[in-house]
Amino acid sequence: MAVLTKVSCPMCGEPEGIRLLWGFPSLDELEAYGRAGGVVIGGYESPTDAADGPPADTECRHCGHRWFSGEWPS
Ligand SMILES: [Zn+2]
Repeated sequence: MAVLTKVSCPMCGEPEGIRLLWGFPSLDELEAYGRAGGVVIGGYESPTDAADGPPADTECRHCGHRWFSGEWPS
């Protein structure tokens, strides 16, 4: 399995970004990211109508900011 790394928050700089998943993640995904530090379920529907790029995939545990990092293994 790929090694999961922490992602630093662009708002506050804290290395507290955790995986933000949309829809219905599999148990494998939940286990993998749970072990790596945590996971947030963003909602049932991925916000595909976002005009400003792909949906957020990371949430900051420190300030709550959500953003797309593209650094998570798929
Ligand atoms: Zn933050």
